[in-house]
Amino acid sequence: MKKNREDLVSNLLEMGYIETDIVKDAMNKVPREEFMTPETRNYAYLDRPIPLEHGQTISAPHMVAIICEKLSLEKGMQVLEIGTGFGYNAAVVAEILGPEGHVYTIERIEKLKNIAEENLKRTGYSDNVTIIYGDGTRGYVEESPYDRIYATASAPKIPEPLKEQLKIGGRLLTPIGHDTSVQELLCLNRVSETEYKSYNLGGVVFVPMIGEHGWPE
Ligand code: SAM
Repeated sequence: MKKNREDLVSNLLEMGYIETDIVKDAMNKVPREEFMTPETRNYAYLDRPIPLEHGQTISAPHMVAIICEKLSLEKGMQVLEIGTGFGYNAAVVAEILGPEGHVYTIERIEKLKNIAEENLKRTGYSDNVTIIYGDGTRGYVEESPYDRIYATASAPKIPEPLKEQLKIGGRLLTPIGHDTSVQELLCLNRVSETEYKSYNLGGVVFVPMIGEHGWPE
């Protein structure tokens, strides 16, 4: 598995999805197979999303690389993730942030939250990742403001609570759109108390973000 992981990471590097050593080292270290179902773990090092449970997926490795690179993560940051799934992306981010950093990640399906918790514990990331069971479109005001916020599910527009819970100087990344053909990855930088600058990073495909400030169930 380790050799397959290294081959995948070196492909992502050659394709330009991985740009920095911190993302390369983290993706080389975190065992993706530990964040999949027993039936699918043999496919861990294919660059594609793989079904988990409840119709949800583990994101494709190139998408995890894009998210980590475009967030410009630094050691020690406080990061909020919407959409834990089985916990893989959160583990990669926690590896990048190091022991001084922390990932808060919200999952709306209780069973997935429980599995992610076990996965993160088994792989040694439970001290640096806190999973919250609930509606991520409301954010998690208790630990806000965050240096970085990212979502791995697609909303109709950027949920207002997430904008409010971002530090000034912070960055938010989220897919926007419902139909798989019209989703776009948006990057939002908070410039001041009231001013944000947004950039479109191109087309993506994610599951819908369902909740109060997202899509209806
Ligand atoms: N981050 C995951 C990974 O590392 O592979 C990918 C997760 S999957 C693509 C998206 C997840 O978002 C699903 O588990 C889904 O249940 C969750 N989700 C959708 N809407 C949500 C919401 N409002 N709050 C929290 N989680 C949500």
